[in-house]
Amino acid sequence: MMKRSWFLRELERARLAQAKKRRRRASKPAKVTRATVWRRKRSLEEDKKVLQKIRYVYTQKPPGFLCHLCGQPRRMEFGHVTYKGKSFCSTASGQSAPDWLAEQKWVDGSCRGRNVPRTTAWNTQKRRQREQEAEEFGVRLKDRKRPGFHICNLCGQPRQKDFGHSRYKGVPFCSLYEGISVEEWLAKQRSADRKGRPVKSKSGRKKD
Ligand SMILES: [Zn+2]
Ligand SMILES: [Zn+2]
Repeated sequence: MMKRSWFLRELERARLAQAKKRRRRASKPAKVTRATVWRRKRSLEEDKKVLQKIRYVYTQKPPGFLCHLCGQPRRMEFGHVTYKGKSFCSTASGQSAPDWLAEQKWVDGSCRGRNVPRTTAWNTQKRRQREQEAEEFGVRLKDRKRPGFHICNLCGQPRQKDFGHSRYKGVPFCSLYEGISVEEWLAKQRSADRKGRPVKSKSGRKKD
């Protein structure tokens, strides 16, 4: 049967890729299951869809450092922000960037109730429990150092996914700087990676 031979071939390919990765990293062996193969296939198809959808936009929109709406640098100081894949230019829209950001966050929060992902809520609860238990023994865990968030030196916003930042194989990406969304960039890098081409990002280089 066609389908079965395709599946076996994909399974073999995935196993070889895993073995190569393992050799390179010399880490614990990871099993290649049916789920891995299907996950890979799904990600391939999703990336194809994203790339097809944006092919048209690419030829229209000049990506790069300057905003195509106002001609100024895509940075927070020049009234540019991004939130969950949406970019904003305050010169073009007449609204201030902090106002727009606050509005987006408010809409986001009011649509989903409490704006906290389930895993975060779970971790917070666990941490509180640990802190309480430790306090009974006279230890204060609250004073421990927490990792602070980093500010992107290209756009001036936090280096977080919500603010259009990502990373693929260690290469950083800033959505405002490159003028494309995180989703698009990741799809591009993943498909390049499959073809054996290196990961590329203009945001990777240092600020001039
Ligand atoms: Zn602009
Ligand atoms: Zn940035």
